[in-house]
Amino acid sequence: MPAKQSVIVIGAGPVGLCLTLALAQQGVPIVLIEALSDDNYLQQVPRAGSNHPSTLEFFDRIGLYERLLPRGIVAPKFQYWDRQDSAVIAEFDHVHLKDDTKFPFVLQCERIKIIEEALAMAKAHPLVTVRMSTTFTGFSQSADGVTVEVTNPDGETETLSGGYLVSAEGARSIVRKELGLEFEGFTYPERTLNIEVAYDFKKHGFTERNYISDPVEYSNLFHWKGPPDRWRIHFPTDPDEDEAKLTDHKAMQARLKAFLPIDGDFDICGFNLYPVHQRVAKKFRVGRVILVGDSAHVNSPIGGMGLNSGVHDAFNLADKLVRVLRGEAHDGELDRYDRQRRQIAIKHTQAQTIRNKRLLEEREPAVRRRNHEELRRSAEDPVLARKFLLRASLLESLRDAEQIE
Ligand SMILES: Cc1cc2nc3c(=O)[nH]c(=O)nc-3n(C[C@H](O)[C@H](O)[C@H](O)COP(=O)(O)OP(=O)(O)OC[C@H]3O[C@@H](n4cnc5c(N)ncnc54)[C@H](O)[C@@H]3O)c2cc1C
Repeated sequence: MPAKQSVIVIGAGPVGLCLTLALAQQGVPIVLIEALSDDNYLQQVPRAGSNHPSTLEFFDRIGLYERLLPRGIVAPKFQYWDRQDSAVIAEFDHVHLKDDTKFPFVLQCERIKIIEEALAMAKAHPLVTVRMSTTFTGFSQSADGVTVEVTNPDGETETLSGGYLVSAEGARSIVRKELGLEFEGFTYPERTLNIEVAYDFKKHGFTERNYISDPVEYSNLFHWKGPPDRWRIHFPTDPDEDEAKLTDHKAMQARLKAFLPIDGDFDICGFNLYPVHQRVAKKFRVGRVILVGDSAHVNSPIGGMGLNSGVHDAFNLADKLVRVLRGEAHDGELDRYDRQRRQIAIKHTQAQTIRNKRLLEEREPAVRRRNHEELRRSAEDPVLARKFLLRASLLESLRDAEQIE
């Protein structure tokens, strides 16, 4: 393919890397720009890591799944708990999806491991040029292509050109801002405190993934492969309390012990405090410039949908871009990417994550009881359980996207 047909991808996060690999493996030359250096790339906060069946199918397509499997935990089940009476409300088993997917389970494998493996694959691919320590600063576009400005590792400004520009820069996307695209939605007043501990929660009946409802302090508890094995627990925080107070070691110990009283202290291996947004960009495509992943949409992590839906953007776009670049489809095909993935972001990802949070934090006793009853009924009935899991695993969202013209 001529240089004009190459694609410039900004951001070697999970979404940018998946897009890069999916395109390169179909013969498209890629320049991948990443601001972080080889020295600090793997020092990022762990973040996402519940990879749903639909996403595992995509990872498998590019040969990434087999590299992640030994580094993760296969989690076929997840539980809803009621913290008020320390009891399991319902347990869902992905076995109900055995006829829907090759992967009837979630793979607990953190973003940092995904990007480490995917970056190694990208660097080894002959059609991919990876530019680490290179910061994207701006762009322009014409009918024929895009021109991108970057600051290289020597601090010099460089200009690159290509056929298309894809912004996989994450939530703070410069591209989105330069395009003047509104990031519609809202930010929750409370931030989420994420604490990582080396402690075996399984001996208390928890499974690999747990959603804990509580009118006072709901939480999520997830298991990650070590060594040492770690569990990540998320708590909402008081919007009026400052960061130093919330992340004070004693305060975090007290919060953990209120959640689960144990003898001695928890071994805290890490923590971070982050704001939670529910936002979708007004458009995902403007001419030769396209947004994917967090650059296009952000949501609360309850349900593990941010990374997953971003990876789905990458594969949806890759299939269409390849056809356009090969001359097999008109450029308008890229508007279909916009229509499909934007509608899914609004109707599925945003709606589902907002619902997930409401379910866990519900205060009204009668509504809580009704919600819990519904969860129980869904988990126990195989037909309802499959329906619930098709939605939670994002398989339904992929099927729905295909119906959008
Ligand atoms: C605490 C937490 C827990 C989460 N848990 C989950 C979960 O369980 N499941 C889930 O699906 N999602 C989860 N998410 C969301 C998930 O992390 C994101 O949706 C996902 O990382 C988005 O991937 P991305 O590739 O679009 O962007 P990012 O992962 O943000 O990657 C963007 C990349 O672009 C680079 N970059 C940025 N600006 C520039 C620039 N100007 N020039 C060059 N490079 C640049 C960055 O360095 C980075 O490497 C969680 C998020 C948080 C904060």
